Amino acid sequence: MTTLHARLNDELTRLRSAGLHITPRVLDAPQRARTRVDGVDVVNLASNNYLGFADHPYLKERAEAYLRTWGAGAGAVRTIAGTLKIHEDFEAQLAQFKHTGSALVLQSGFTTNQGVLGSLLQEGDLVISDELNHASIIDGLRLAKATKKIFKHKDMADLRRVLQENPTDGLKLVVTDGVFSMDGDIAPLDQIVAIAREFGAVTYVDDAHGSGVLGAQGRGTVHHFGFEHADDVIQVGTLSKAWGVVGGYAAGDANLRDVLINKARPFLFSTGHPPAVVGALSAALDLVQQDESFMTRLWENTRYFKAELQRLGFDTFGSETPITPVIFGEASAAFEASRRLLQEGVFAVGLGFPTVPRDLARIRNIVTAEHTREDLDHALGAYERVGRALGVVGG
Ligand code: PMP
Repeated sequence: MTTLHARLNDELTRLRSAGLHITPRVLDAPQRARTRVDGVDVVNLASNNYLGFADHPYLKERAEAYLRTWGAGAGAVRTIAGTLKIHEDFEAQLAQFKHTGSALVLQSGFTTNQGVLGSLLQEGDLVISDELNHASIIDGLRLAKATKKIFKHKDMADLRRVLQENPTDGLKLVVTDGVFSMDGDIAPLDQIVAIAREFGAVTYVDDAHGSGVLGAQGRGTVHHFGFEHADDVIQVGTLSKAWGVVGGYAAGDANLRDVLINKARPFLFSTGHPPAVVGALSAALDLVQQDESFMTRLWENTRYFKAELQRLGFDTFGSETPITPVIFGEASAAFEASRRLLQEGVFAVGLGFPTVPRDLARIRNIVTAEHTREDLDHALGAYERVGRALGVVGG
């Protein structure tokens, strides 16, 4: 008989021997461009806090106001008694921001993919997913009853082949990340939507890393390509990265919201957001529209940091967004570089197999609007020294 103790021990041993065991680093200060990690003062290149909203006073003030007025918690599942007026108002604000017929907010980006893919797709439907799509899409598709196919990363000929080889009278859905989280490249939505339309398919974009980053005032990848009014495009994403808080959303056709309210299981069976979260989120959408300098600084910093890394001889792997990978090859080299960078006061996380291909281990840097030129220069100096010491760049 397997005891719980034996099972837990076996799991930890297996993870450690496969080099997959993780112990999260701990921030001793708020999530900002400069923070403290495990007791060290650092320039933070590890967060998804693209606009620097996670600790922004404008968000915190509204969170506090909503907390005082509306209470600490929603008190019930949204479909039972947990829908407060502020939930509905924020969803209307989000639909307006996204230029879509409707929007619904769920607990997280992860549960949004599970809720939407798990409830929308039926037997006889076809869903085709880019091979590099996020884990929450993969798990969402596990819940879907449709026929599931994969197309090669951003390979339009392969997408077309899969659509041709799998005719169906059911719903066809092409699923892609808007911005890919490991490489920082942008999905060619102009081509994806055009091919999907040829086959009568709907395009589903997970814009976790594009919302607040691409498109006018951060309206996202779908807006960047001009498809925001299209009723054959579904946008999902997170409210935890650029928007600095927590949550997920689905936005699109006017009826999408009502169907998801009635069918998406994470929405139906799990309590909605506390008022402070809703307050901070509504402030985040206001702030990005009132003050364009957040987007301007994010992109100035992105262009500067990427260009300087390349000038030093680092391979940033074709990244087009603030997600800036630096390729080290072997996982051991990436992890060693990350450790040395931390000693130099730079927090940037190493990623190896199975998160990324075996020979493409990397450090993933994320530039934000909050970084100063001084922060970025500090990080670049550390990169130069560590890169030279490890023989990744010459000199
Ligand atoms: N989709 C993508 C592409 C992501 O990168 C993430 C975050 N890691 C998620 C979904 C999940 O979002 P959340 O953290 O809100 O659950």
